[in-house]
Amino acid sequence: MHEFAAARKAIEAMIQGDDLEGLLRQAEAVHGHLCPFVSLGVKAGHYAMKHLSATSTGMEEVVAIVECNNCFTDGIQVVTGCTFGNNALIFKDWGKTAVTVARRSDGRAVRLAVRPDYRQRLFEKYPAAGPLFEKVVVQRQASPEDLHRFHHVWEGMAKRELAAPLEEQLTITELTIRVPEYARIYASVICQRCGEAVMEPKARLKDGRPICLACAGEEYGLLTGQGIGCGRER
Ligand SMILES: [Zn+2]
Ligand SMILES: [Zn+2]
Repeated sequence: MHEFAAARKAIEAMIQGDDLEGLLRQAEAVHGHLCPFVSLGVKAGHYAMKHLSATSTGMEEVVAIVECNNCFTDGIQVVTGCTFGNNALIFKDWGKTAVTVARRSDGRAVRLAVRPDYRQRLFEKYPAAGPLFEKVVVQRQASPEDLHRFHHVWEGMAKRELAAPLEEQLTITELTIRVPEYARIYASVICQRCGEAVMEPKARLKDGRPICLACAGEEYGLLTGQGIGCGRER
């Protein structure tokens, strides 16, 4: 049991010790690569956790309300410990690279948002980055060499942006919010068509028998790279 708690303790120690590089390494393991926006997420998470004197064990004592599902969000999840799986991560589908981190005990919160000119300044600061980004990420037609160079440049940017002043990257606002309710725990029912267990409020009744949304062919909420939308099995 205690060995499991230790991994998070290592992250808490990095937060307290201002070990941004250590935190970035942790985020890289989750995110899969290094890039400037994962770096910003790490910095925002670090700032918020210290500022709120918050600790997180993934029991919703701290919540992170993110306004985007991009690289930034992975930095936030790793450093704050608020994740998709522990319900302490709340997603507002606004398409803004921003986060509000709040303490459940008193609603004290801090919102960090990427400055509007940040992206442009970033590409000015690193002239090699723009054309590579266009080729690799936007058009998705990079050669293996392009890809290699892209990761190299991106990694260098992530590390340098880690050291750059936070105030030049993000706006910081203190606020008090009403923290969303704790996640509710629901009973499961068995879908009478596929036989799988399904959270009760997600099941539909057909002839008085529970059917999952997939089997019922009904619309369901779907989070993809496009944000929150609707899905339906056919
Ligand atoms: Zn990334
Ligand atoms: Zn089913």
